[in-house]
Amino acid sequence: MSVLAVAEVKDGQLKKVSRELVAAGRKVADQVVALLIDGSDDHAKELFSAGADIVVKNSCGEYSPEGYANIAAAVAQAKGAKAVFVPHSVRGKDFGGRIAVALNAALVADVVEVSGSADELTLKKPVYSGKAYANIKAAAPVVVSIRPNSQEIAAYSGPETIEASDAAAGDVKAALSNVEAAGGSKVQLTDASIIVSGGRGIKGPENWPILQELVDTLGDAALGASRAAVDAGWISHANQVGQTGKTVSPNCYIACGISGAIQHLAGMGSSKVIVAINKDAEAPIFKVSTYGMVDDLFEAVPALTAEFKKVLS
Ligand SMILES: Cc1cc2nc3c(=O)[nH]c(=O)nc-3n(C[C@H](O)[C@H](O)[C@H](O)COP(=O)(O)OP(=O)(O)OC[C@H]3O[C@@H](n4cnc5c(N)ncnc54)[C@H](O)[C@@H]3O)c2cc1C
Repeated sequence: MSVLAVAEVKDGQLKKVSRELVAAGRKVADQVVALLIDGSDDHAKELFSAGADIVVKNSCGEYSPEGYANIAAAVAQAKGAKAVFVPHSVRGKDFGGRIAVALNAALVADVVEVSGSADELTLKKPVYSGKAYANIKAAAPVVVSIRPNSQEIAAYSGPETIEASDAAAGDVKAALSNVEAAGGSKVQLTDASIIVSGGRGIKGPENWPILQELVDTLGDAALGASRAAVDAGWISHANQVGQTGKTVSPNCYIACGISGAIQHLAGMGSSKVIVAINKDAEAPIFKVSTYGMVDDLFEAVPALTAEFKKVLS
């Protein structure tokens, strides 16, 4: 029984979620086929080390949701895949639904846990802004989009087979020509292991450098924000975490001057460790935080940065 994991390569890098898809596939199928579109042999190695048995390489040229979906559907059919796993990323959301249509399959989006077997999966996904989880039984064929950073990746070694596929992108009506970066952090919010996020408590845009210094010190980290900070025009909407912003699941989320409104929690409640820095001990963010500091962020954040600099240098 086979699962197809559709890997994502962006700016020459295999996105970590690609390995998570493979690791999730390993739990429910005896064969995991990874589809690598416009990727390299080094990317294939990364997929093998996460549990892929076969990496199917294909080229599409310029990214288009139609092209990716046509290729993925053809490879899924050729391999007899019972389920297709795609990233719940901007791109995965773009092409995942089209794969489901092409395969006449169900689509279950934003899944954080996968169990059962590929011909009858049990899928867990947050609902009602993260207040509850829905457990869904899905019979094959099914397309599942998996939330980045939600899956453990165990080291794996097995036979490594690379196959070339000439599945065609087909009649593509709209393709991506280029993306203009909006500036800011080099690490994407949804990929970052650590997010340092600021809310209304940072008082104004002139104070982002205080949080940015912590981001830069920590390394694989990105700067996030609450909607209050975004609505005030202090930072771009691209940085917003929450119901009407990005959904993130980093290993560590550091909320600075954020009260913890339900709409904010909807976007970051599945973070592995939550650190809250807030001067109001009654702030709701402390109810969900792993560690809480009742403190003025303008003192606590520079102190943390200084300590991390000592430890990490
Ligand atoms: C339909 C809808 C969708 C929404 N979507 C989102 C969303 O996607 N994301 C989102 O974030 N919100 C969203 N909201 C808004 C949400 O309800 C809250 O208004 C918002 O999250 C509040 O942002 P905040 O925590 O930064 O501000 P506040 O709630 O004003 O909290 C500021 C906090 O900073 C603390 N503080 C102040 N000064 C300091 C200091 N010096 N040191 C430490 N702490 C300090 C205060 O004690 C307070 O707890 C949405 C609302 C609606 C209705």
